[in-house]
Amino acid sequence: MGIDFRVRDFFYPLGIYRLRREFERTQWLSPEELSAYQGRRLTVVINQSYDHVPYYRSLFRKLGLRPSDIQGTDDLKKLPLLSKDTVRNGGADHVADNAARYGPVTYKTSGTSGSPLRFYLDRNAMILEFVYYWRHWSWAGYRLGDRFAELGSSYFLHGRGLCDKVSSWQPHLCRLMLNSNRISIFHARDMAGVIRKYRPKFLKGTASSVYFLALCFREAGITDLSFRAVFSNGEVLTPQYRAMAESTFHCPVLDSYGHMEGVVAVSQCMEGGYHINSDYGLLELGDPGDFPETDPTERRVIGTSLHNLAMPFIRYDVGDSVEVPTESESCPCGRTLPLIRVVHGRSEDIIVTPDGRFITSMFMIPEFVEGIRFMQFVQETETRLYVNVIPDGSCGEKWREELLSCVTKFVGEGMDIRVRKIAEDDIITDASGKTRTVISYVDAGC
Ligand SMILES: [Zn+2]
Repeated sequence: MGIDFRVRDFFYPLGIYRLRREFERTQWLSPEELSAYQGRRLTVVINQSYDHVPYYRSLFRKLGLRPSDIQGTDDLKKLPLLSKDTVRNGGADHVADNAARYGPVTYKTSGTSGSPLRFYLDRNAMILEFVYYWRHWSWAGYRLGDRFAELGSSYFLHGRGLCDKVSSWQPHLCRLMLNSNRISIFHARDMAGVIRKYRPKFLKGTASSVYFLALCFREAGITDLSFRAVFSNGEVLTPQYRAMAESTFHCPVLDSYGHMEGVVAVSQCMEGGYHINSDYGLLELGDPGDFPETDPTERRVIGTSLHNLAMPFIRYDVGDSVEVPTESESCPCGRTLPLIRVVHGRSEDIIVTPDGRFITSMFMIPEFVEGIRFMQFVQETETRLYVNVIPDGSCGEKWREELLSCVTKFVGEGMDIRVRKIAEDDIITDASGKTRTVISYVDAGC
């Protein structure tokens, strides 16, 4: 899930300008030049980690390694994989002792398994995120200052009096915010009305929010709206999601894949190629035998920060997988950033509320509530939602009220919300052993 286009992002115009120029060049580099670019950035990250991050200093010493032993991507394998649990349990040991000089900001993500993770991103990471989005969008003709619409829920949940609003126009960012928690056939005409009024050229949203917006427009007979491109992120874009969005909005959908931790980014070009942004982070593919039950082209995603120095992640196991081509391929767009075939990332169910709304962003709730180590939402009937939780014991029962209030903001008063504490063994997993944050037994029409 990306961080993009907020006022704070414009605080570093010089850094943005420099990296933008760099990224305009690096997308066309030869494989050797790209590898050398990664190597240079990796050296900075490794030196910083060894000199200033307690976890890595201790790890290098334990393994008898010096920073000079990691000269390139091949040498990274001398270090072990970094799991989310290690980061979660290690706490401050993963933060550089000189982090303050890089302008760190705390972030919390729900991850893909209902267990929140806290970490720092620095100024360089913010600039990177902005420039990465800018470049990707420009592949579809976007120019800074163009109007765009964005489907989201956080903005409306946090803003005073915004919770029930359908939309909000932000002239300073040229952005039309559309409340993804208000997607329903009943609100379709209001949403279409503001799109006609502000005429955004592009639409951004998670794959499911874009799909359900398109579905509701179809059901309401709204067929006259179009964009130059739709940018989908945050979830797996299924062929069904893509087909519905492309036919309703009369434009291509450009998919992308990444995480707030900022270690890997994959984005789709107008020719349909899924490009690994090798200048953004270092994506290392896991061993071919990691998924013996499936296609041998499926490989684990392991990412290494190339820009964030306040809290670098090295060989971070993000918990997803990708399918890679059997031999190296080139993209008709001419960009040399390597290609993958398919991303197996987040895939959540949708909650349908009693008043007919499609809630696509329940998976974000763990980010908003303190004191809970694990959370899983299970919609059993149209009016009953169970919230299964494992508290972390840090704040007694204080989390309960906060959780109920937050869930009610998403699903409304008409839903019977039942919170129940569960044991580790009660966590529901799917056939492949993956844990989803949102499970629904109610047909949402997808
Ligand atoms: Zn391409």
